[in-house]
Amino acid sequence: MHIDMDAYFASVEQYRNHPELQGLPVCVGHDPKGGKGRGVVRAASYEARNHGIRSGMPVSRAYRLCPNAVFVSGDFQSYVNASGEFMAILREFADEGRVRRASIDEAYIETTFICQEYRHPKELALEIQTTIKDSTKLPCSVGIAPNMSVAKIATGMNKPMGITFVPQDPLEVVRFLAPLQVDALNGVGKVTAERLQRYDIKTLGQIQQMSVTELWPIMGRGSRWLHERASGIDERPLVDNGPRIRKSISKDRTFLEDVDPEAVDYLHETIFKICERIAEKVKKKALEYRTVTVKLRYADYTTIQRSRTLPVSTADADMLRRIARGIFDQKRDPERAVRLLGVKVSSLSDNSAQVCLADFL
Ligand SMILES: [Mg+2]
Repeated sequence: MHIDMDAYFASVEQYRNHPELQGLPVCVGHDPKGGKGRGVVRAASYEARNHGIRSGMPVSRAYRLCPNAVFVSGDFQSYVNASGEFMAILREFADEGRVRRASIDEAYIETTFICQEYRHPKELALEIQTTIKDSTKLPCSVGIAPNMSVAKIATGMNKPMGITFVPQDPLEVVRFLAPLQVDALNGVGKVTAERLQRYDIKTLGQIQQMSVTELWPIMGRGSRWLHERASGIDERPLVDNGPRIRKSISKDRTFLEDVDPEAVDYLHETIFKICERIAEKVKKKALEYRTVTVKLRYADYTTIQRSRTLPVSTADADMLRRIARGIFDQKRDPERAVRLLGVKVSSLSDNSAQVCLADFL
């Protein structure tokens, strides 16, 4: 199976970071500043796509297509966190935990054995999709096929929240691929597609009908690869590339209502609570941190992040509170209402092998 999260960055914003944005056209990208802004759309929700907005498009153009679209600057750490969550879910379903992460929001999983426990592979796909939705709040699509290449194509056929099944039978696979454009294949980019086009080759079906020898003058060394993939042949084994190594632990708190900058005690208290949660996690995982980062988002969505790195690693909870509070007091704008507060520890190291001095005191 190939699992691909739907409109990933935009979905994290809509379903996790800013639930009030559900149902609205949302773009992750720089402020379009009334059409004069620079930069590109990094992700667009399906509502935004309905207005013709696509990722990679200049934000100024997106603004003209849909002036009502909500632009958020994006929060990469939250995308990394959500990615870790759904990858862990995939690992629970996959045969022997075999998961191959392909990017932050997509992965292949081996399901040959576990599928036998279901009446149909689609049942398993639905269970995976529902589990991911329930536990991460995020939508995904699933492609089921005899190999990775075909599964990836299948996933893209029914988005969002789709499940596409391609049977094992090689003839069925060939039939599934035949009508598709050549650039449906992962690995056939614009240049290759244009070259094939010059020979009037537009669909995978046309490539299936040719021999490798006939393809040679057009594709050279790539001929065999192209012929095999177009015919649904992909012998690559699904090699597990391991769970992601934890690089940081973070926790955010978005306030239901923006917090007045005068309410310093409440903001401090919130930082302390967040630090407590993080310190617990650090302890449970037998880690130590060196860097502490405080994130502040103001009512107008501008976000600042400030860090401090210690000379040595520690797991000390009190230290974390003091540093986080210190950064907050020093870096915050005392005039502006706060929408979100976050704390992160990074530069993590494993202290499980070390004996903690405190254990002897
Ligand atoms: Mg995706």
